[in-house]
Amino acid sequence: MATNRSFTGRIALLSAALLWSSGMAEGVAVAADAGSGAPLPRLFAEKWIDGTQPSEPSTQVQALDADTFVIRQSVKSNFEAPFLYLFFGRDKALLIDTGAEGGQIRPAIDAVISNWVKARGRKDIPLVVAHSHSHGDHVAADGAFRERANTTVVGLKPQDVAAFFGIAHWPDQIVRFDLGKRPLSIIPTPGHQKAAIMVYDPRLKILLSGDTLYPGRLYVPVNFMAEERASIDRLAAFAARHPIRAVLGAHIEMTQTPGRDYGHEAPTHPNEHPLELPVESIAELRAGLKAPLDVPDRPQIHDRFIIFPVAARTE
Ligand SMILES: [Zn+2]
Ligand SMILES: [Zn+2]
Repeated sequence: MATNRSFTGRIALLSAALLWSSGMAEGVAVAADAGSGAPLPRLFAEKWIDGTQPSEPSTQVQALDADTFVIRQSVKSNFEAPFLYLFFGRDKALLIDTGAEGGQIRPAIDAVISNWVKARGRKDIPLVVAHSHSHGDHVAADGAFRERANTTVVGLKPQDVAAFFGIAHWPDQIVRFDLGKRPLSIIPTPGHQKAAIMVYDPRLKILLSGDTLYPGRLYVPVNFMAEERASIDRLAAFAARHPIRAVLGAHIEMTQTPGRDYGHEAPTHPNEHPLELPVESIAELRAGLKAPLDVPDRPQIHDRFIIFPVAARTE
């Protein structure tokens, strides 16, 4: 069953890459024209694993192009079922996040890297492991990557992230991080968590938004709400200057029914909302954050996400 699945998965990867490139040729009009209630262009050929089958692989990998991979950790291994992102450039690869407890992330990433280097007749490529933010469900396999050869694991504090990416003015400065003919933008977005960043890829016009914006419960400690608002203001200014085809976060907690989420720690996700959000979600989040949102556990419900103030935290 597992072998079969990974074979069909391989075929799906190729068709996803083809669909993607044909979509790219036509530009970004579909995403840009879609209102927040309109159907979204789908980026992924395969349905994501969602825990609804009796068995599923511990991870699922889908390609956006030959150098860009999205990995999901099975909800059966951890209710968080996070998404991870792996980018390749000429000189190095960048992994965003290492998953939640209970995952098999290192072997999955090693396999993708090994295939990538082999296909190019190379021996290896240096790997940088950074994080969308420092919560436990995104850093659990850091230890396994610290032991990996030719690998740098970025630290978890805002000052570690700033130092690694060369951000002199955290969180107001957006910097370029080049993987070798693959420049990315690193955007500090503290709020959900103090070390949060987003990553923009101009090649595919995608924005990795971590836990700050995804189809689910956007938790913000009430004492970080001002930081969150400032981050989303800066993000909106960035989005006004850069084309964004899709916003890709780190979880899915919404169903396909507008405004309806799964219960906390739901073991399966039947009829999940797609992973991708339209660029308009940034403006919608920004507008939603204008409300007071100062009462913990009194959420503001939108069709595609829920702004969820939580009790004050220290980080
Ligand atoms: Zn988080
Ligand atoms: Zn998370």
